[in-house]
Amino acid sequence: MTSSPPSTVGARDAYAAAAILGCSVDLIGHCAGCRVYVHRYGRGGAPLCPSCQLQLEELRGAGRAGAPKG
Ligand SMILES: [Zn+2]
Repeated sequence: MTSSPPSTVGARDAYAAAAILGCSVDLIGHCAGCRVYVHRYGRGGAPLCPSCQLQLEELRGAGRAGAPKG
């Protein structure tokens, strides 16, 4: 729980990001939140980078009082 996944913030392209994340370049995509490279597709992929996932979880945890609902 204390270990954080590698960040691709400094990655110059999808190939560099794939090398950092240890997955195929075919599985690399952009984070839906901040547009950094993430392991987005395939097994173990996620549309958000670890940083944005954390923010989303915090928002969910804090948003129960006033979630916008139309
Ligand atoms: Zn992000």
